[in-house]
Amino acid sequence: MPSGDVVAVVAALALGAVLGALGFSLVVGGHRASLLAELADRLARATDRDAVAAPIHYPDPRISRSLTSLAARIASVEAMAMTDPLTRLTNRQASLRTLTDEVARANRYERALSVVLIDIDHFKRVNDTHGHAVGDAVLRHVADVLTRAVRSTDTLGRYGGEEFIVVMPETDVDGGLASAENLRREVARAPFSENGITIDVTISVGLTGRVAKPSLDVDELLRRADTALYTAKAQGRDQVQPFREPDDDAGIIRATIDLGARRRAQDIGRAAFAASSRHLLAALSERQAWSGGASRLIADLAGDLATAVGLPEGDVDRVRTASLLHDLGKLAIPDEILDKPAPLTPREWRTIVEHPKIGQVVLEQAGAIRDAASIVLHHHEWFDGRGYPYGLAGAEIPLGSRIVAIADAYEAMISNRPYKAAISHAEALAELRREAGSQFDPALVNVFIDLYAKGVARGTPSRVGARSRRS
Ligand code: GH3
Ligand code: MG
Ligand code: MG
Repeated sequence: MPSGDVVAVVAALALGAVLGALGFSLVVGGHRASLLAELADRLARATDRDAVAAPIHYPDPRISRSLTSLAARIASVEAMAMTDPLTRLTNRQASLRTLTDEVARANRYERALSVVLIDIDHFKRVNDTHGHAVGDAVLRHVADVLTRAVRSTDTLGRYGGEEFIVVMPETDVDGGLASAENLRREVARAPFSENGITIDVTISVGLTGRVAKPSLDVDELLRRADTALYTAKAQGRDQVQPFREPDDDAGIIRATIDLGARRRAQDIGRAAFAASSRHLLAALSERQAWSGGASRLIADLAGDLATAVGLPEGDVDRVRTASLLHDLGKLAIPDEILDKPAPLTPREWRTIVEHPKIGQVVLEQAGAIRDAASIVLHHHEWFDGRGYPYGLAGAEIPLGSRIVAIADAYEAMISNRPYKAAISHAEALAELRREAGSQFDPALVNVFIDLYAKGVARGTPSRVGARSRRS
């Protein structure tokens, strides 16, 4: 039974019970009539918990108490019917009801509306590796992060297994993309960590906005958001994608990049990954496979197995690389222990069993370059929200991006470019000061200028020339 019907039935039963308790007769007079009116009014507003739970006044205090507790019960049944028990978020049905109401409102008043679908990346792995209980805990964790990160005007709900929905009233596609990117970032920067288990969690996000004409219905909006989510998965996960009509060139200005450019960028990224893997492998080249050396055979077997179970191409590569590097941690174990012909002492054995964790630390350091991605993505955002690609403002912009923006701008100002001459150090600082609060983080501009005042900054303040920035 849909939750709305459950509430209606409970409300009807409750009303019946109250009427019986009051010895309701055909002649409804004075107190009883106003009491009934109040009760009916509260039932109608059953979602407003404060209103429902306020005391109901009646001359007989017992009846007064009973009615008050009955009204509170009704409110809690309503809340239960709308709530997902695992995450405590609004459940699918209630979320869809909110969406239906908001779509009707947006269409009627020609207002903006964005709909966001979120799916946790590679969640099956979490269940497979750590078990369902941890999977559930990760779901709760992601729900908590999202709850903290959504704006107060947005409605967040659990849409399905490891899928969430956010309804964003009064929000156009650009605004929706900025908010959705914020959600993605918050989840990515808050790894799950409980009982000694740490798991990096990322989400893929699909978004669509209500377009003025023709008015979209709920099903079409959901279909579009789902298509966008599929694109986000297909393009590598841990990202936000807006819905695009199949041949929509004019569509969204921000956030997506041309497919050719994306492919070239991915090639460069893969080359960087391959280079760092090679570097790590070189460190292992002297070793025998059993003492941490990389084994082609293991890599080939693992690659074949990964392909056979249907992992996507990118994952097969990752499994191959991991298999080559799986014993990296043994580099930290002294040769005497690894080569010891006799049985190991308990202490030596403890050293051996640490090698997977040491390998993890090595790779985490190597993978830290990934953390630069969000700094790169946002280094052209402006402090006042007028930058690109997402129009983030103030503290929404990663601190690293705000720092790079100042250093980048300063360097550009004091350098000659084919299209612009350099300006002096003093002029550049004056320009930074002028743009503090609009383009740049004003607090950081002050710190930057202070660096020169204290004589700790590198660079060459004496250079001359002038140009304006092109990028
Ligand atoms: P992808 O990045 O493509 O989304 O990969 P995925 O592994 O997340 O794939 P998919 O979305 O198909 O799988 C979702 C998995 O989530 C399958 C199911 O076992 C798990 N799941 C769904 N609901 C729950 C839940 O309530 N608790 C737990 N522990 N797991 C759940
Ligand atoms: Mg899913
Ligand atoms: Mg998933």
